[in-house]
Amino acid sequence: MSPLGLFPKSLRWRLVALECIVVGVILLAFTGALYELAARNLMHDVQSSLVDRAQQVNGAIRQYVVFGALRPKQVIEIPPPESFASSDTVVQISTLDGQVIVTTSTPNGNNIPLDQDTLQQVSLGNSTFERIKVGDEELEVYSSPILLRDRVIGVLQVARSLQLIEQTLARLRLFAIVGFTLAMTASILATFYVANRSLFPLKELIRTAERVGRSGDLSQRVKTSPNLDEVGKLASTFNTMLERLESSDRQLRETLDAERRFVADASHELRTPLTTILGNAGLLLKVPNMSPEDRQESLEQIYEEADRMRRLVSDLLTLARADAGFRLKQEPVKVQPVVESAVREMEHRATDRQLRIDKISDVEVVGDKDALKQLVLILLDNAIKYTRSQDSIQVEVEKDDSQAVIRVSDTGIGISQEHLPHIFERFYRADTSRSSDGTGLGLSIAKWIVEQHCGSISVASEIGKGSIFEVKLPAKK
Ligand code: ADP
Repeated sequence: MSPLGLFPKSLRWRLVALECIVVGVILLAFTGALYELAARNLMHDVQSSLVDRAQQVNGAIRQYVVFGALRPKQVIEIPPPESFASSDTVVQISTLDGQVIVTTSTPNGNNIPLDQDTLQQVSLGNSTFERIKVGDEELEVYSSPILLRDRVIGVLQVARSLQLIEQTLARLRLFAIVGFTLAMTASILATFYVANRSLFPLKELIRTAERVGRSGDLSQRVKTSPNLDEVGKLASTFNTMLERLESSDRQLRETLDAERRFVADASHELRTPLTTILGNAGLLLKVPNMSPEDRQESLEQIYEEADRMRRLVSDLLTLARADAGFRLKQEPVKVQPVVESAVREMEHRATDRQLRIDKISDVEVVGDKDALKQLVLILLDNAIKYTRSQDSIQVEVEKDDSQAVIRVSDTGIGISQEHLPHIFERFYRADTSRSSDGTGLGLSIAKWIVEQHCGSISVASEIGKGSIFEVKLPAKK
């Protein structure tokens, strides 16, 4: 198992655990080093005070040497300590065979122990430091030789209780443990707080993603805080992504709805002429000896409806190509001949209307000649369809700044304000009684052609007075 496998799964707890280890190790090393340094210093002080005292006593006892030796039970007066610091030291003088000559004795009234090893070392002229337990008291003992002309004549032991140092070190240990615990607790709490605060948006993000996954509701958002750290930025990026997804989803639904409506409308529009054709054809089959007038009427109806279907299918094809992303040609087109040709084509249908070109300017645009002609034909077709006998239809072409303006105005039935915003929608017909031979697709095709030329189409109309359709296309530079 990798060492990371021992770590908790949650990122927050992992951070806390890692921080615990790092801070813990540093604190332990630091506190341990400090404690060790303090203990050594204290011991060093004790030992140097013992050496000082030993030297002082050593110098003072030479006067008691008789015939080059120190004798047991000899009365030796130990000089008082020179400094306050060494006042609690114990001094003991022994012969080389280990018999105590004089001792100031330990606080418990015991002699300083002197073992064979130490005696041997001192006899050889060496000094030793030892830590010895006497009763329940620990002593640091310094044993050194008493020399007379380089000859060892006795043993001088100076000792000091370690109780005070032990107490100081115990206090230091307690202080270190309390300090360590407080520092660890504070740093764990701080890390937990920071991790919790920083990772809160991440938790929210996971919850939101789960909710979106479960319900498919893309309107869900992560609550973000104003503090934009990395996690905060991730949450706000996630929100932006959700917004995009939501809007694409909305667009997709709208497109699907529009498509569904389009198919339903198209089927509905095709059913009417088909029913008429089938009815008339059935009648012709069933009644062989029909009067020539009735037969003529049935055939005319079949012809008209079939023609209507042809137009409808052709319009549907144009729109289907438009939806499939079909792009029109982009070549220089002179507007004047296009408009004149469309007007000529429509003249035979407008015999009882006054169709005329009022103004025509020489302007050129970039686009598709056939499509532009189809656009003018649609507008003229509508103008003829929605005008009464003797009404007038005017066509104007002019250059306005950098635009070519094509205007088709009529004094026909007009369009009410409630229908105006919808007339460019597919299959929308404002006046169903008058537009029975229309498909409701003409203006949507016109709008698509205008958009393909990067232009705009607008309408102004008043019921009973007439309508003005205005197309603006960028003129060729
Ligand atoms: P349609 O084939 O029915 O004419 P269009 O898309 O060309 O379909 O026109 C949509 C509707 O806008 C028409 O049904 C009609 O009610 C209205 N309309 C269009 N042009 C005119 C006009 N010149 N005068 C009055 N109404 C119009």
